[in-house]
Amino acid sequence: MASDKVLIIGAGPAGLEAARSVAELGGEAILLEQRERLGGTPDRERYAKLTHHWRDASDVIEEMIQAVSNNPRIEVKTQAEIKAFSGSVGNFEVQLEVDGAPETLQVGAVIVATGFQHFDPGRATQSYNYYTFPDVITLTDLEKMLREHNVVRPSNGQPPKKVAFIQCVGSRDRRLGNEYCSKVCCGVASKQAIEIRQQLPDARVFIFYIDMRMYGYWENEIYWPAQEKYKVNYVKGVISEILQKGDQLLIRGEDTTMGRPMEVTMDLVVLSVGMEPSAGTRAVAQMLGLRQNPYGFIEAGGAGGVDPVATSREGVFVAGAAAGPADLNDSISSAGLAAARAVAVVRKALALV
Ligand SMILES: Cc1cc2nc3c(=O)[nH]c(=O)nc-3n(C[C@H](O)[C@H](O)[C@H](O)COP(=O)(O)OP(=O)(O)OC[C@H]3O[C@@H](n4cnc5c(N)ncnc54)[C@H](O)[C@@H]3O)c2cc1C
Ligand code: SF4
Repeated sequence: MASDKVLIIGAGPAGLEAARSVAELGGEAILLEQRERLGGTPDRERYAKLTHHWRDASDVIEEMIQAVSNNPRIEVKTQAEIKAFSGSVGNFEVQLEVDGAPETLQVGAVIVATGFQHFDPGRATQSYNYYTFPDVITLTDLEKMLREHNVVRPSNGQPPKKVAFIQCVGSRDRRLGNEYCSKVCCGVASKQAIEIRQQLPDARVFIFYIDMRMYGYWENEIYWPAQEKYKVNYVKGVISEILQKGDQLLIRGEDTTMGRPMEVTMDLVVLSVGMEPSAGTRAVAQMLGLRQNPYGFIEAGGAGGVDPVATSREGVFVAGAAAGPADLNDSISSAGLAAARAVAVVRKALALV
């Protein structure tokens, strides 16, 4: 029996927007989330302010959650996982486990919005000593500190006087097999550099980069204010290792503009870790039989290569960072498109019955 329901897997920004859009289009959505809470990575990792409008992440995500809560066209299931999947467009059968109990659903279309995870900086770049030196942290560790207005060196609880960001950790790295650019980390590091200067005006902040990749409005809304107003120092260079020197960190590498070796001491080093497919994205892609790209993200593009939400399986769409590195605007735009496409295919399937 054909179903008019659209199943959305993952309730991060993309899944929330997909559910809201399906409902707004007059469709019926079932929103599935494996965690107890909605809101995705910005909620789980407790982001501080969001680019590029500088709003508190918690406010933005709360608004998105409110838009799906108590909506009669959206059924939300948390602590829910897919166990089996079969059927075809208009008529998929999904076996679930919700709060430990089995359930079966009939749905007409699916939107996969299972997102990303951060690159583990201990995995292959041990030269940065993330798991050895407490004052080597990641962008996400710093987001939490900024949110609490408590940017300190974990080793001694004191505010840092010198902070360095190292860009492209786990991205654009052929040795790791992650040749792609993670898109958001140049903007996020620059945003965090501004927030550090706002919260700790005496701290000096350095960003070591291969090349800065700001796209769209991030260039004039983040990058230039960071340099001109907040005096963040951008240094074109490659950092090869981080060592301990007394109670400071010694970062060693090459200043590529000057073409000479470089050694500087810092109080706090922030690794700009990139985006990889989440474990959920990999697992759901396999269970639903979706083609993945060499990095494990769900391959989007469809037959002509220009449909950013089509997957290799008819009636199954992808939205947000499950298809590759994406900022919030990208994630929300693709979710709206996926919702429109999913509602259209279920209506078409129903009309044929
Ligand atoms: C440090 C950092 C800071 C950032 N700051 C900004 C910023 O300021 N501005 C900006 O525009 N972007 C920012 N981003 C990017 C932003 O986080 C992403 O664009 C956004 O989270 C992608 O949303 P998503 O819904 O696709 O994925 P996610 O947010 O990863 O959500 C995916 C959801 O799916 C769920 N899920 C996974 N697998 C399953 C499963 N099998 N079953 C059910 N549920 C599942 C997860 O639990 C999660 O809730 C930042 C990224 C990083 C790394
Ligand atoms: S956005 Fe910047 S830091 Fe992130 S991978 Fe691309 S170039 Fe590197």
